[in-house]
Amino acid sequence: MHKNIFILMIAMLALASCNAQNTKPIIVVSGNPVYAIISELAGPKIEVRRLVPPGASPHTHQPKPSDMYKVQAATVLVYISENNDGWAVKLPGGRKTLRLMDFLPREMQLGFDGDFISTKDSTKINENSIDSHFWMDPLAVKAILPALADTLASLDPQNASTYKNNAALFAKRLDLLHRQIDDIVHSIKGHTVFLYHPSLLYFLKRYSINYGGSIEESPGKEPTPQFIAKLTAKIKEAGTTAIFYEPQLSDKTARIIAESAGLELFMLDPVGGEKGRENYQDLLLFNARTLSKALTAK
Ligand SMILES: [Zn+2]
Repeated sequence: MHKNIFILMIAMLALASCNAQNTKPIIVVSGNPVYAIISELAGPKIEVRRLVPPGASPHTHQPKPSDMYKVQAATVLVYISENNDGWAVKLPGGRKTLRLMDFLPREMQLGFDGDFISTKDSTKINENSIDSHFWMDPLAVKAILPALADTLASLDPQNASTYKNNAALFAKRLDLLHRQIDDIVHSIKGHTVFLYHPSLLYFLKRYSINYGGSIEESPGKEPTPQFIAKLTAKIKEAGTTAIFYEPQLSDKTARIIAESAGLELFMLDPVGGEKGRENYQDLLLFNARTLSKALTAK
């Protein structure tokens, strides 16, 4: 009898500790770019969970039953935009959702050619023609922080001050990071870069580096031989020394072009979450250093 009561007490204690854990707000994010930003605002008090594991592309992710289970527990779900990780918002279940692109001021938004959409004919602009990889520019990230922190605070009022204080501190670190990157890429300003997919346009624009084109204009979709031939000619004409692949996508085409055009192959990472590129700052510094090294090689 006593033994049974003891077992019951242990079970109740275990249940109570589970409940205590469950009261911790959980922010579920699509993938690592969002994770890197939201983690800075959430700090250790709030749990941030990724649906796409590090090393995989948020663009090509196929939602799994485990993703549905994860979003059930979410206080808030955060994703970037329909043309980036739009599958996340289609997961069933009514929960509060944040779309990060909504926080980026219109005048900072770029088209897929690397130019500001404010310079274009507004009748030809739709959501699909806006590049969503804004997190590759630390000052674009800084620009979304005040409104993002306010919105998170209204969705989770208990932790309002955490979000707002962390956002203010992160903004200061982003200013420092921007100056650090500006220094690293100083000697490659004005160079032309050809990317694997249009993932670093915001970075290139911010640091006055030219964008030449991409191997995969649509991530995960292999280019035709004709497209590769045209791009290779463009690369040779631009006189660049390097081409890039990304760890989340196949490197096959980048290797073919590197070999046929006599270019060095380097890795750029627009997603991060892997060793040495775990947090936001390390991810941006990795890309700045890689670009600088690649474009000053030979
Ligand atoms: Zn991308």
